[in-house]
Amino acid sequence: QLSGKTAIVTGSNSGIGLGIARELARSGADLVINSYTDTEEDHELARKMAEEFSVTVRYIQADLSDGHAARGLVERAGACDILVNNAGIQHVAAVPDFPVEKWNAIIAINLSSAFHTAAAALPMMRKAGWGRIVNIASAHGLTASPFKSAYVSAKHGIVGFTKTVALETAEEPITCNAICPGYVLTPLVEAQIPDTMKEYGMDRETVIRDVLLDRQPSKEFATVEQLGGTTLFLCSDAAAQITGTTISVDGGWTAL
Ligand code: NAD
Repeated sequence: QLSGKTAIVTGSNSGIGLGIARELARSGADLVINSYTDTEEDHELARKMAEEFSVTVRYIQADLSDGHAARGLVERAGACDILVNNAGIQHVAAVPDFPVEKWNAIIAINLSSAFHTAAAALPMMRKAGWGRIVNIASAHGLTASPFKSAYVSAKHGIVGFTKTVALETAEEPITCNAICPGYVLTPLVEAQIPDTMKEYGMDRETVIRDVLLDRQPSKEFATVEQLGGTTLFLCSDAAAQITGTTISVDGGWTAL
């Protein structure tokens, strides 16, 4: 279905990005996977995925906190039919205590990197006559939580950026949408569980149900495979007229 297309997925050596990359490869897309590290495991991951799905997979290191590096990622890929802006980090602190360098890093990685990659990718999509941009926002792109000011600001920002790119490409065979996941059990979230158990004096199941999934009415995590499937749908012909919008994959969070 996607054979002959090249997909770039940012922040894809782990978690949601890796899940999306695997679903795109399963559908036949050639891949560029990315993170800020450059380890043997990163390149081995690319080799294994290429073998598993019989597609081309390249690992390209780029630290997306740097706008030049973000543009360089797309330029080094040389082609970009599908751009998935997924890389993201989190930091939790009240506004007066929020470290300025954390604020700047979150805005740079979670928001500005998508501007830079899209700026480099759009001319390639226009030349190819087809393109899909999928921005991984969050339920926090539509709602807020205390102590997550930078993350919530960046995620609301990327929803606005998504709408703007959609309008700039509205008359072309290019779409730009955002996916808004609720909680997904990635290494990022898994790492928060032991500390939260200690903090609240709760067992693992209670932390998951009453703290993490407190706002997720389904009381279930979304999965990286479901986010991969949602991305595939946005890349399909059925979604050709879906642009400038958000799709929530949040077990009912934003219905509350
Ligand atoms: P994760 O930590 O497993 O993955 C984040 C990815 O981004 C990793 O591959 C990491 O290497 C990469 N990354 C971090 N900093 C980078 C940098 N400077 N340059 C390049 N790559 C960098 O986390 P995840 O949960 O898979 O999150 C992926 C995206 O999904 C993020 O944008 C996150 O905000 C969003 N999201 C996650 C959840 C969740 O519950 N896990 C919910 C909503 C939205």
